Amino acid sequence: MSDLKLFNSLTRQLETFQPVHPGEARVYSCGPTVYNYPHIGNMRAYVFADTLGRVLSYKGYKLTHIINITDVGHLTDDADAGEDKMEKMAAERAQSIWDIARHYTEAYWADIKALNIRQPAKWSIATDYVPQMIEFAKSIADKHCYELESGLYFDTSTVANYGALARAQTDEGANSQGGRIEAVEGKRHAADFAIWRKTPEGEKRQMEWDSPWGRGAPGWHLECSVMSGDLLGFPFDIHTGGIDHREIHHPNEIAQNQAFCHSDHSGARMWMHNNFLIERSGKMSKSAGEFLRVQLLIDKGFHPLAYRLMCLQAHYRSELEFSWEGLQAAFTRLKRMVMAVAAVKGIEPASETTDKRLLDLFERFDDAVSDDLNTAIALTALEETLSLKKVDQGQKLLAIAQMDTVLGLDLLQLERADLRVQPKKAQISATEIEAALTSRKEARANKDFAKSDAIRDELIAKGVEVMDGDPLGWDWRIEV
Ligand code: AMP
Ligand code: ZN
Repeated sequence: MSDLKLFNSLTRQLETFQPVHPGEARVYSCGPTVYNYPHIGNMRAYVFADTLGRVLSYKGYKLTHIINITDVGHLTDDADAGEDKMEKMAAERAQSIWDIARHYTEAYWADIKALNIRQPAKWSIATDYVPQMIEFAKSIADKHCYELESGLYFDTSTVANYGALARAQTDEGANSQGGRIEAVEGKRHAADFAIWRKTPEGEKRQMEWDSPWGRGAPGWHLECSVMSGDLLGFPFDIHTGGIDHREIHHPNEIAQNQAFCHSDHSGARMWMHNNFLIERSGKMSKSAGEFLRVQLLIDKGFHPLAYRLMCLQAHYRSELEFSWEGLQAAFTRLKRMVMAVAAVKGIEPASETTDKRLLDLFERFDDAVSDDLNTAIALTALEETLSLKKVDQGQKLLAIAQMDTVLGLDLLQLERADLRVQPKKAQISATEIEAALTSRKEARANKDFAKSDAIRDELIAKGVEVMDGDPLGWDWRIEV
């Protein structure tokens, strides 16, 4: 097996993974803010974290993966401007924040399942950790924080190399948060951030707690420092998130961790970031009426794992542009894989691989995933394995199973029928289509071509494309 090399955003270099605790891998991923449904861009972050976890497990490390759920504290701006996203949505909907959080957490978990993302060791919920957050804040308050009318703030000049992860310039006004200094009155430096946000006099928030700095709510960055440290212990191995977190959220977590640990250590050995999924029109957003959710893909007749495959086709550090054509192409690729696996399903898998061609392909697969999770190349090794002829079928099945454990396309479970996702707008069911096609076959056998054409026309009118002689054996599909 090759050494596992991963790109560490801290050093902007590939580094060989060396666990803090021998034989173990401890990973923390920033989770969603549950004020709305996740869009498929958000889900790319978890497909990436899942792939990382799967590769670490495959390499033999005992994985402890934590993903948090942010149900408090994340403002509409990642720096300290704007309103709490959860409070804002609750006010707009005249609903309780707790109900909103529950609803969107469950929706997020449904997407996690649909994309075959493995369950982490724990989903840590931010509001369950408020007492620990207060204790953490108390321990750093004297040396690193100052109090203002609006709350307790972290003084970023009290830690070494603040913002190194973002490669931000720390001189006033020139850093990534320059220009926002006026957002909070009295902040010493533009980059200083809230540890505790006091509820303004005369106001009441739905979510608020007592603290030494008055009644209020924790700052967003605090939760991840507290939960990662509590659940994984500082220093742990890898902290993940989307590339936007490299700029503000993670530098702020690092500053808190340094303060808490009385050390220059960032709290995690490696910080890894996935690049964005974008739309041609620009950044993916949740504001447009119908935004891109996993459920929308399903409603349009795509299997959600086609989206997982689309993610795996790109390198996680590259931007990926979403298009329906791209998704369609990934879906066709997935179908081909499922069909190829069908041929070896049910065979007893071998217990070891001795075939030279399989061994070579597996080496290529291992090299690829070991090279900063190059899933695009790993997929080609899987496909070549699938198309190998005159090879021991049990050994072939074993190789497919091993590769798919890493890629998570669920190839051994997926059936052709599962891939026939019924589009929401479909006017006819799969059973009705199958019945119509059986009648058409009979008509053709009886040389009643008028009848067979009429059946076909009726199907076309209902949006069904009849694919006679399709090499993959897909006799029909509903236009999406
Ligand atoms: P949020 O719920 O906004 O905190 O985001 C959840 C995760 O999705 C974070 O790790 C973000 O960095 C990540 N993220 C947000 N937008 C995108 C996108 N378009 N593509 C990939 N990841 C994203
Ligand atoms: Zn976080």
